[in-house]
Amino acid sequence: MSHSLLSDANQRLEKALQYVAVDEDVAERLRFPKASLIVSIPVRMDNGTLRIFQGYRVRYDDSRGPTKGGVRYHPGVTLDEVQSLAFWMTFKCAVLNLPFGGAKGGITLNPKELSKFELERLTRGYVDAIADFIGPDVDIPAPDVYTNQMVMGWMMDQYSIIQRKITPAVVTGKPVSMGGSLGRETATAMGAFFVMQAALVRMNRNPKDTTVAVQGFGNAGATIAELLFSAGYKVVAVSDSKGGVFAAEGLDIPSLRHMKDSTRTLKAVYCKGTVCNQVEHTVITNAQLLELDVDILVPAALENQITAENGDRIQARYIFEVANGPITSEADTILETKGIQVFPDILVNAGGVTVSYFEWVQNRNGLYWTLEEVNDRLEKSITLEAERIWAIAQDLNISMRTAAYVHALNRLGDAIKAKGTRDYYIN
Ligand code: NAD
Repeated sequence: MSHSLLSDANQRLEKALQYVAVDEDVAERLRFPKASLIVSIPVRMDNGTLRIFQGYRVRYDDSRGPTKGGVRYHPGVTLDEVQSLAFWMTFKCAVLNLPFGGAKGGITLNPKELSKFELERLTRGYVDAIADFIGPDVDIPAPDVYTNQMVMGWMMDQYSIIQRKITPAVVTGKPVSMGGSLGRETATAMGAFFVMQAALVRMNRNPKDTTVAVQGFGNAGATIAELLFSAGYKVVAVSDSKGGVFAAEGLDIPSLRHMKDSTRTLKAVYCKGTVCNQVEHTVITNAQLLELDVDILVPAALENQITAENGDRIQARYIFEVANGPITSEADTILETKGIQVFPDILVNAGGVTVSYFEWVQNRNGLYWTLEEVNDRLEKSITLEAERIWAIAQDLNISMRTAAYVHALNRLGDAIKAKGTRDYYIN
């Protein structure tokens, strides 16, 4: 296999296989995505010209149920990236014991260059192109980088038009007015927060003496920064795609968020009412943010941020992976040698897909839950699985990441085995 994101992701599988008694057939099945679709999407631009965009949808494994995974709009989207993200979704759904397999989708583009109308036409075109590949009992998309509630609303509407029936359960992360779940927008960060709280209690740490740096100030990053700020943690640095800000005494995250929402720029400010004033801070790059001497580092942007190149310079005591795949497998080894404890993406950011599951259940039942019910259920399930992974890590004396893969592999192994051998003989 050539060196790719997927082959790097597979390293985690190979490592975990050393600790699990699963059949070699199961392991071989999990090394490859079940199906990968590549589509060309024609879009009539506002100026009348025609542009063709490349889109993908990958269903990695459906042994445990219909596949589930977000849709990413980003210039760096490739088939390899989408396959890796679908691989991680497979293990993430198994870690949380959700009745789903893993999938992912994406379109290669810079969404900031498109008007809202162009983005809507592109989204509807993408759904037209993948409509036979998705469905409430087949594969259920959700938001990811640079997609949001609005995009999910368009996706659901377009799919419903194609099917000639209202089909809310085909996507999750929809606006609440279209059948979305309360708490879905904050779910990824909320789940990460519950995992952090449980871990830090074990480590006997006090929020007010704990410094945090967060890379990425989008849906997941800005929300986790705000939750940590509200719980009394000292959030000393945050960043977005253009760079970051650092203040040793801590940043006022609600003020930064207010500024970012109203001006699209990240500025170190303190706001009283609608008046915002700049506070003392240092402008830093994303690379510098990762190397800060903080207690907790939260990568919440993109994959491959901590690699063999910068792994040695990371100084954080703990890393909570809110982004998918921010640490390469080579960097895992470096961080482990340095004694840095990593809490893996397939556990830490699983709150998003867990509440997506709750949304799908509510859509199918037609009965909707309160925010408190959603958050209570999320806290119970993610804390329970975090404790189970912690116990596996202690028992086998392995990292939390390998323990999470072991936990998922046991469940995936049971499901693949229970299906029998038809896949291998009748095709
Ligand atoms: P988003 O589009 O809301 O935000 C992405 C953020 O990353 C933005 O602030 C952007 O400026 C920043 N960014 C982009 N390129 C960057 C770079 N090179 N360096 C630093 N920052 C950069 O996306 P999101 O939904 O918050 O997703 C962020 C991460 O969390 C992704 O890895 C995603 O897969 C993961 N995740 C998201 C969800 C979800 O429900 N949204 C669930 C699980 C995992």
